[in-house]
Amino acid sequence: MHDVIVVGARVAGAATALQFARAGYRVLMVDRARFPSDKLSTLYIHQPGVDRLAHWGVLDTVVATGCPALDRAVYQVADVRLAGCSLPAGDQRAAYAPRRHLLDKILIDAAVAAGVEFREGASVAGPVLDGDRAVGVEFRSERHGRTREHAHLVVGADGMRSTVAKRLGAPHVVEDPLRTCAYYSYWTGLPADFELYERPGNWIGVVPTNDATLIASYSPQADFDVVRADPQAHYLESIRTTAPALYERAMAGEQVDRMHGSGDQQNFFRQASGPGWALVGDAAHHKDSITARGINDAFWQAELLVTAVGDALHDPAALDKRLAVYADDLVDGLFECYRNTLMIGQLEVTDHRLTMLRAVAQSPTLTDRYFATASGVLSVEDFDDDELDEALSA
Ligand SMILES: Cc1cc2nc3c(=O)[nH]c(=O)nc-3n(C[C@H](O)[C@H](O)[C@H](O)COP(=O)(O)OP(=O)(O)OC[C@H]3O[C@@H](n4cnc5c(N)ncnc54)[C@H](O)[C@@H]3O)c2cc1C
Repeated sequence: MHDVIVVGARVAGAATALQFARAGYRVLMVDRARFPSDKLSTLYIHQPGVDRLAHWGVLDTVVATGCPALDRAVYQVADVRLAGCSLPAGDQRAAYAPRRHLLDKILIDAAVAAGVEFREGASVAGPVLDGDRAVGVEFRSERHGRTREHAHLVVGADGMRSTVAKRLGAPHVVEDPLRTCAYYSYWTGLPADFELYERPGNWIGVVPTNDATLIASYSPQADFDVVRADPQAHYLESIRTTAPALYERAMAGEQVDRMHGSGDQQNFFRQASGPGWALVGDAAHHKDSITARGINDAFWQAELLVTAVGDALHDPAALDKRLAVYADDLVDGLFECYRNTLMIGQLEVTDHRLTMLRAVAQSPTLTDRYFATASGVLSVEDFDDDELDEALSA
């Protein structure tokens, strides 16, 4: 009998398992993948996520992998160019974008060092139920064959297409249509900041990572069939037309990887808890990756869940109440970013937004505060202050 079983061992699962173990619980974590291994993602971790890595004692290890500190952001749309950096989260002014085969393994190693029992190459068929209560999971692995393990709490951290959520019948409580499709590749010989370029119908993101610079291109979901028919040609043409100067810089370097991409960027909140179970990360909530918030939000959810459970793990009635609070707080905490993401994912450059951005560009303070809304350090409400009003009326 374990205290907690966590299904999924990447940014949501490993972070959750790590913290439950540090809280003194006996944790089993299983993943069907083997590590280190990669995952479709453009890697950017905003400042609040970096601050959590620091608190968990793993930031130095992440930085030691050689991913550069990203302490300057550039955003260009129409005639507006913003250059600055988010306000800090805790002591962390820089963002980082470590390759996922490095980051995920660092988190797993930290969880194991904290006492988590980890089984990789173990595919979970679904939760074991006692009535409507999750009491464990059933999984199959080459090494152990078909196995059942029991726990007081089952956590589904198994991604957007979560098997745990499906088997528990966790419905979507909020759902919106797909917005974009995204393709990216890696380049060498391309020194860069964290850079964003936008025009109607296209969004380009530039993310320096360990050994290369990633360039991503986001197009409307309605164009997905056209884009995927020839992702490479569409990608280069998008960079050329949306960010011509970046295109020239990229052409002076070398594209060193194939195209990676997805049109399946769902937008939803699932019911995130029930009797004896909870969901974290993409399993609980997924949004278009255009705002690059998935890792950051997974870390936040992991902390939210472990804090909510507190010392109630061995008291089923108290535990279920705490899990219900967790599910409510999850939606409350992430809804504003979800709405902003849906708005940005429309890939429309409205006059209203341009007017606001032109005002922001006049002031380095406002520029940093604007980037702080993107990182999650500031809420949109806090950004909307007197200085912005003055800049807008100037
Ligand atoms: C194109 C793209 C770009 C992105 N860019 C960014 C970015 O720049 N910044 C950012 O913060 N986020 C980004 N994201 C989002 C980010 O990658 C995800 O939010 C994040 O990976 C979610 O982590 P997770 O741990 O919840 O799920 P996942 O990373 O999906 O991990 C789930 C794990 O569960 C395991 N699993 C699944 N089913 C089972 C099963 N039945 N049994 C056992 N194990 C199972 C899988 O093997 C996997 O290891 C991007 C996403 C996409 C698609």
